[in-house]
Amino acid sequence: MKRDIAEMKRMLPLPTLMEWLGIGESAKTSARCPFHQDSRASFSIYETPKGWRWKCHASCGGGDEVALIERAENLSRTDAIARLRELAVPPVLDWNSGGASKSAEVIFPSDLHSGNRAELECVAALRKVDFWAVATMQQNGVLRFGTVCSSPCWIVMDDSRLCAEARRMDGAFFPAVGPLSERKAHTLRGSKKNWPVGISLPADLTKHFRKVLLLEGSGDLVAGYHFALAGPADWLPIAILGASVRGLDPAALLLLSGKRVRIVPHCDAAGRNAAELWAAEIAQAGCAVDGFSLEGLRKQDGTLLGDLNDATEILPADAAQLEGLWE
Ligand SMILES: [Zn+2]
Repeated sequence: MKRDIAEMKRMLPLPTLMEWLGIGESAKTSARCPFHQDSRASFSIYETPKGWRWKCHASCGGGDEVALIERAENLSRTDAIARLRELAVPPVLDWNSGGASKSAEVIFPSDLHSGNRAELECVAALRKVDFWAVATMQQNGVLRFGTVCSSPCWIVMDDSRLCAEARRMDGAFFPAVGPLSERKAHTLRGSKKNWPVGISLPADLTKHFRKVLLLEGSGDLVAGYHFALAGPADWLPIAILGASVRGLDPAALLLLSGKRVRIVPHCDAAGRNAAELWAAEIAQAGCAVDGFSLEGLRKQDGTLLGDLNDATEILPADAAQLEGLWE
């Protein structure tokens, strides 16, 4: 067992492990600690004759690779060792590309799970959407749960497992770490951002949807499922996780081919710009594509909608215009 752990550490030394867990920026002799709000450089890693060590000079502790996994993913030592075993696999060779190693796969949390009723209810309340919207996402394999950056999170992904994004169950932001500023959503390491999340459903279910609602971001994806509940049954909501994404994955475009695609952009310049470029790419793939604008529609407090998620609080007088979503 002991030798086994030493072998795994050789395959996945601390700097590489931290890279894989998305905290590679802190893998230095002096860095901001990835485990607490650190305004000074409290964190360091260093090599000893017995291997790599990390230490936080505040109160996050220190130790070897196993201790880091324990801290990063809130695991017991036994579970952290199992996790290290899972991560420290020899590189998979892709023979089609002459033996070069495959591109990294998405690193999912070790406690990735479908979610119980309380977790689903929590997301529904957090996003102000119908419980059954969230339950449908779970059913479609588009919503999962797990611990990311030490916090319980809800995670959007799909059957392809190519792209996944986590958001905290408490609705709070992920703390800044290295070059990453505070952020409401954390893209899991290894994700292909040009994969529209939600397009690949289990058991070939995708083919039963003739129309696709293409949204921006995980928040709008949840809202898309919310509004689709009351809409016609042949619409599938999917989402590209960021307005800066260009060059959609060819395999995703193939899944879209022959379907009608409607883009609902965010009400800002970046959103409109992205929607135009995505529309061009999707049209080129042979889909009928159009857009639905939320501009000018108001929330109950009188302010303008910024995105589809805001529409869960739409002013009753403007609600009828939302029906146009499905025309
Ligand atoms: Zn710390």
